[in-house]
Amino acid sequence: MKGLASVLLLPTLVVATSLLLGYGSGYPLQFLSAGLAVLLAWQLLQLWRLLRWLGNSDSAAATPNHRGAWSQVYAAIGQLRENRAGNDGDLRSALRAFRQSADALPDGVAVLNEHRQLVWLNRAAADLLGLDSARDRGQRITNLIRKPKFVKFIGQHEHPEPLVIRGRGKPRRQLSLQLVTYGDNQQILMVRDVTRERQVEKMRRDFVANVSHELRTPMTVITGYVDEMLTDRALIGEWGPQLDTIMAQAARMKAIVTDLLRLSRLESALEDAGYEAVALAKVLSSIRLEAIARYSEGTAISIEVSPDAALLGDYQELYSALSNLVDNAVKYTGETGAVRVRFEQQADGSAKLSVTDSGPGISAKHLPRLTERFYRVDKGRDRERGGTGLGLAIVKHVLQRHNAELVITSSPGEGSCFACVFPPERVTLLAAETRNAGAA
Ligand code: ADP
Repeated sequence: MKGLASVLLLPTLVVATSLLLGYGSGYPLQFLSAGLAVLLAWQLLQLWRLLRWLGNSDSAAATPNHRGAWSQVYAAIGQLRENRAGNDGDLRSALRAFRQSADALPDGVAVLNEHRQLVWLNRAAADLLGLDSARDRGQRITNLIRKPKFVKFIGQHEHPEPLVIRGRGKPRRQLSLQLVTYGDNQQILMVRDVTRERQVEKMRRDFVANVSHELRTPMTVITGYVDEMLTDRALIGEWGPQLDTIMAQAARMKAIVTDLLRLSRLESALEDAGYEAVALAKVLSSIRLEAIARYSEGTAISIEVSPDAALLGDYQELYSALSNLVDNAVKYTGETGAVRVRFEQQADGSAKLSVTDSGPGISAKHLPRLTERFYRVDKGRDRERGGTGLGLAIVKHVLQRHNAELVITSSPGEGSCFACVFPPERVTLLAAETRNAGAA
């Protein structure tokens, strides 16, 4: 009400005074129009002053002195300005607190926009990645870190596994990078120094490799002597079964040592496997013959692979991975079962090499742990069958080095399927002459 009264006060006064003077002088209309014109001019002047005041960026600029309705307009706008200044201050101090806490983090954090340009990074990220927050902001991250592995990592749609690269500067650090996508295709790049972890891991690997290596010579000596003792009829008469057991256990230990060494070599390899063309038909048929000779002559093993199918990789590694899968299938399926090895190319250029058996199958709770070293579904039964417990761990590492994946599907009583899925860049076809040379 107070506001309305102050708005109406001035026009009422002007109209009343104009009419009074107009009737007094005999020219009411002329006085009224002159009065209204003066009122309009005054209001326009006030409006212009208000606009000029609003245009003044200094929010603390003095509020013009006014009375009536205009003083209330100025007071309301002044209040709004003060509130906004307060909010800006709050925001600024919240932002400062956030930056300080982010800078105190031991791990690096960098924010990338949808064009993969650097928006912001904390102190640890700048230090670990060798970047300068002020200089590099706005640059594409792939221009700042040009390692091909990193460029490929950034280009991927999904990043389930972190990427490990060497950092810049001295000392050379091993960095683990993880990408999380959020909001409108923006990303957070998290950087962790894993140098120490990697060193401990390397020490563990070296220790296993050295122990395995050291055990080889004593094992060879023991088996050599037992071999010789087994040719002595008198000894066989008295110690025959014991010597056979020593021989079998020594052979088992030798197999474990060999697999441990193979695994540690695979783990320590830094680069991916090479790109040698490996003819599958030939490899699989010799694996088949070996598996039959080693485990079972009765198991039906079928191989479905076209004669020109080939993988690009390391011959020895692929041979050992595939023979582990076929050996397992034959070993656990037994005489009465069937094993099917099948190579299929998929529409997207990738390929699936699956080993399916009609064996006992594996319940779901074991599947995620099968590739762990020495993990066995049934410890007693599986050890008796003569495995080292390292076969699937070797398969997993070989496939990783070939950018491939192991997919296991199985359920008790329904057999198992171990499928290796190779990406398109690892799949090829053999030229006719290579094929014939391979078959010869
Ligand atoms: P092992 O030398 O004991 O066979 P692996 O690493 O090759 O070791 O396999 C790990 C475990 O996975 C085996 O001990 C066995 O319990 C299970 N397994 C592997 N392949 C099969 C299969 N085809 N059918 C049933 N169980 C299997």
